[in-house]
Amino acid sequence: MLKETSTLSKGKKPLVVMKFGGTSVGNGERMQNVAEIVADHAQRAEVVVVVSAMGGVTDMLIRAATEASQGGREHWKNVRRELARRHREVADQLLTAAEQAVVLPRLASQVGNFENLCSGFSLVREVTPRAMDTLSSLGEVMSAQLVAAILRSRGSPAEAVDATELILTDDNFGNASPLFEETNSRTRQRLQGLRRRGVIPVITGFRGANREGVCTTLGRGGSDYSGTIMGAALDADEVWIWTDVDGVMTADPRLVPEARILPEISYREAIELSFFGAKVIHPKTIQPVMKKKIPVWIKNSFKPTTPGTRIVPSAADGQRGVKAITSVSKAHLVTVSGKDTLSFPRLASKVFGSLSLGDIPTLMVTQSSAENIVSFAVHDADLRRVKMQLEKSFELELLHDNLASIEVMSQVAIVVAIGENMKGTPGIAGRAFGSLGRHGINIIAIAQGSSELSISFAVRSSEMKEAVKVIHEEFKL
Ligand code: ADP
Ligand code: ASP
Ligand code: MG
Repeated sequence: MLKETSTLSKGKKPLVVMKFGGTSVGNGERMQNVAEIVADHAQRAEVVVVVSAMGGVTDMLIRAATEASQGGREHWKNVRRELARRHREVADQLLTAAEQAVVLPRLASQVGNFENLCSGFSLVREVTPRAMDTLSSLGEVMSAQLVAAILRSRGSPAEAVDATELILTDDNFGNASPLFEETNSRTRQRLQGLRRRGVIPVITGFRGANREGVCTTLGRGGSDYSGTIMGAALDADEVWIWTDVDGVMTADPRLVPEARILPEISYREAIELSFFGAKVIHPKTIQPVMKKKIPVWIKNSFKPTTPGTRIVPSAADGQRGVKAITSVSKAHLVTVSGKDTLSFPRLASKVFGSLSLGDIPTLMVTQSSAENIVSFAVHDADLRRVKMQLEKSFELELLHDNLASIEVMSQVAIVVAIGENMKGTPGIAGRAFGSLGRHGINIIAIAQGSSELSISFAVRSSEMKEAVKVIHEEFKL
């Protein structure tokens, strides 16, 4: 049910962008459920739909491409069959004969694209990031075709739209950034006709295109971002992200089964949570809607009447202290030590200068000026680049190996306590420290965000789950 909320303008129908994730479109039954949700809300709101690939499809495509580029043919041939089977099964189950006649050839043509690409990768024994983007986002093209056709089969006018026509991005294949101004005008223009005719656009998540029209992707899990990019472009009243949990929870429910739903969180809390690993929203999701202050809801497609979590510019709940715990399981702690001749400011500037050259984000930073040491944590995926950049910047110092050293501690996890109102609540770090100590969990490093929105602890990966549970319990979340 679309509830009347203060943010929805009265009079004209509110515009809601609804994004459905992989599990929500995972099979025929789930896609049917999506069509029911959309058709139900379309009576009271103008709905624009964004879809992910069917659950597991993106992983399957990426693995097929990788194996093909290593010369194997067996694996991608099997994936081809599986890709065709999963989508065809839904078409057989849910589409009218007339819709099948329209959609089956379109699905077959995508399977054909998959085959041509993989066959090329195995011939040249290479897959470039550019070709990988075209291939890895084929799942979205196929699921958008299916969802639009299911809606039409049920009597709701709908049309699949490829986001390569809407989202213009830079050339950073695999993790592209949208160029907002042009994206906004393209989106408005391309969808105008459909909207005027009352046709529901069903847009592919995850993908965009560069200026040459070559397909790019927005990073893994990027369909959430596609949803808010569309929301901002269309001046939507709200963006609803439909997933497989009841909303944003006080911790990852896979780590803490007793985690609780947060009815409302602020933009800043959502950004912080997603940056530190809460997979429920992609880290860039909030960015497009910030200026226009568009509320984002996280809802469970398995329980469509449960309200979910509302993400707003600033939460009005006044809850003090810690609100949620999140964690990054695979991180590394890199420590750079300078000897006497390398002053601390010079050391720090070289370290962060080299990270900035590689555009590498840090998860936490600690320093000791007296000992001339800087430590920082980075994602597992970034470690290789970090080492490369540092070795380049400190080439001479390392050559005279008495001037500097670079050490890496692996199998480290970062556990983060988050809450906008931690600011000014004394004793939070002490309580977290105390509780971890009582459970025998060793804290390797600690850092508090200068905004006082988060406190981060580095612990051994093997102790991460326990650390999250202990802090969750300590603050009675
Ligand atoms: P979708 O395919 O719908 O995009 P994802 O798998 O990307 O869904 O994200 C949803 C998952 O995020 C949940 O199933 C849950 O396991 C995980 N998750 C991690 N941290 C949290 C959290 N704090 N609150 C809710 N879910 C979380
Ligand atoms: N299908 C893409 C992925 O698995 C995008 C998404 O689901 O958000 O990464
Ligand atoms: Mg996701």
